[in-house]
Amino acid sequence: MGEFVRALWRAHRGLAAAWWLLAVAQAVLPALFAYEVGALIAAADPTASLIALGMVFLLMQVLAPVHGQVSTNLGDHLSSRLQDRLLTATTGPPGIAHLESRELAGQLAVARDFDQGISGPPLALSMGMIAGSLVEALAGLGQAVLLATFHWWAGALLAAAWLATHWLLRDSSSWDRDTPEVQHAQRRAEYTYRLAVDPPAGKEIRLFGLSDWTVRQFVHNRQKLVDLRWQATQLRRRGVGWTLTTLIAANGLVFWALAADNGLGLGQRAAFAQAAIGTATIAFGGLNWALPPAIEAVRAAGRLEATMARAGGLPAGERRTTGTDLRLRNVSFSYPNADRPVLDGLDLTIPAGASLAVVGLNGAGKTTLVKLICRLYDPTHGTVEADGVDLRDLDIEDWRSNVTAVFQDFIRYQLPLRENVAPNGASTEDITLALKATGAEFTDLDTVLAKGYDGGTDLSGGQWQRIALARALCATRQGAGIVVLDEPTAQLDVRGETEAFTRFLRETRGCTTILVSHRFGTVRQADRICVLDDGKVAELGSHDELMAANGKYRTMFDLQAARYDHD
Ligand code: ADP
Repeated sequence: MGEFVRALWRAHRGLAAAWWLLAVAQAVLPALFAYEVGALIAAADPTASLIALGMVFLLMQVLAPVHGQVSTNLGDHLSSRLQDRLLTATTGPPGIAHLESRELAGQLAVARDFDQGISGPPLALSMGMIAGSLVEALAGLGQAVLLATFHWWAGALLAAAWLATHWLLRDSSSWDRDTPEVQHAQRRAEYTYRLAVDPPAGKEIRLFGLSDWTVRQFVHNRQKLVDLRWQATQLRRRGVGWTLTTLIAANGLVFWALAADNGLGLGQRAAFAQAAIGTATIAFGGLNWALPPAIEAVRAAGRLEATMARAGGLPAGERRTTGTDLRLRNVSFSYPNADRPVLDGLDLTIPAGASLAVVGLNGAGKTTLVKLICRLYDPTHGTVEADGVDLRDLDIEDWRSNVTAVFQDFIRYQLPLRENVAPNGASTEDITLALKATGAEFTDLDTVLAKGYDGGTDLSGGQWQRIALARALCATRQGAGIVVLDEPTAQLDVRGETEAFTRFLRETRGCTTILVSHRFGTVRQADRICVLDDGKVAELGSHDELMAANGKYRTMFDLQAARYDHD
């Protein structure tokens, strides 16, 4: 609760102050109204009371919508602030292993969905509900104070009964957001929903006839959520029963006292009776329902920040310039939830400025190897060293600025060509040169590379791959000394890939280049080739050396050559 109040204040001080002020102002009005009704009944000349009553009524009408507006605005501010925090936290840690951890999946889902109306209403809406129920609650207290002028215990009793009901209903209000079971069902339901409505999946769903399956999955998970909600409603029954009993007892006592007290005038009776009703009707207080999702969103931000700070435990070493002599020393690596290591005691040296091609069967660990070099993961055992220094001891930002990579699943930014080549900025000359070197034929750097934008255009797979290569080339012009290419040109034809790679090597002379490819026409151009097998380097040497050795490399090469001959 304290965290939530602080978050409101930080989101926007002016709005937060206005929000609280309006809440308190509105809270006083019902008690005032009850008091004036009493005065009106008791008065010999009703004019003054009527005017006062009219003004209170007017204020009640005006302040509520104003408060609603302030709430929505404040909610929007809170929302953006939380989004900032969640985004910063998520992208903070330098590696990506944490993004795949199962424990974190739930937290990340909260971060992703907290304002999408999936795990609770959007914050702007929540704030309106919270404002309404906060005013109700405070107004109840105000009326209890008025009632206390009749008998102190009457006010205290009804206020206590009201608090007790909140306490009785406390569990049933937060049931549906907290349990892993609900989170899981929510995630599954949402996933299948997206499968059904997102365009990319739509293609495969139709091609493979998965529509029924998708709908069944969605209905199943939705039903599960409905069931869980029903169970929670059942749980609520006892709380609600006790709440009613408490209220009937407390109100019975107060109204009995009102009726029995012969010293009270008609006006006083009317005012106190109204105050009693006002205090009692808020007993099922909306705050219980409105607050938890908003508090949960604020808490999620704090929790995620803490988790990410721990996940970011890749220690930032002292700043130093990095070398480009790479060495993997007895490296083993297993993915977080896997039982078998992908790399297992691998040793490999890549001299500065040399090019190395990595080949191996599917799943041999080629991509994993280059991810370790990029330090997207740290090895489970052993070390990856640059100029003899463990990567873990280097400043991660320095290292990242020294490495550039193109992965098979590189990102196609819906941005102008210029920013696709140089997301962090570069001179027009560098960008144009890089594009030219990859054989991409474009003139207008400001064309947005996505349909649906003004003058925007989409590209073929091959064209995209040339742009991705240009991105890496441009990075080497900005100072990157290590280039990683993980099958970035699989969509070019064989000759296109070979040519692109020849040009690429020429342009990046002096850089340490690591290439993963299935195509031997490309692979053979590298200074050295390593064959990965069984988590280790099985063969290492130049194309000619490996051919002469007559081992695995030669077998794979001959197999591919025979296929081309055949074709
Ligand atoms: P290659 O690039 O040689 O095809 P990878 O390095 O992509 O091989 O994968 C090696 C093995 O690690 C495969 O068995 C693959 O299923 C597994 N793997 C790859 N990425 C992950 C991941 N993020 N989580 C768990 N296992 C993974």
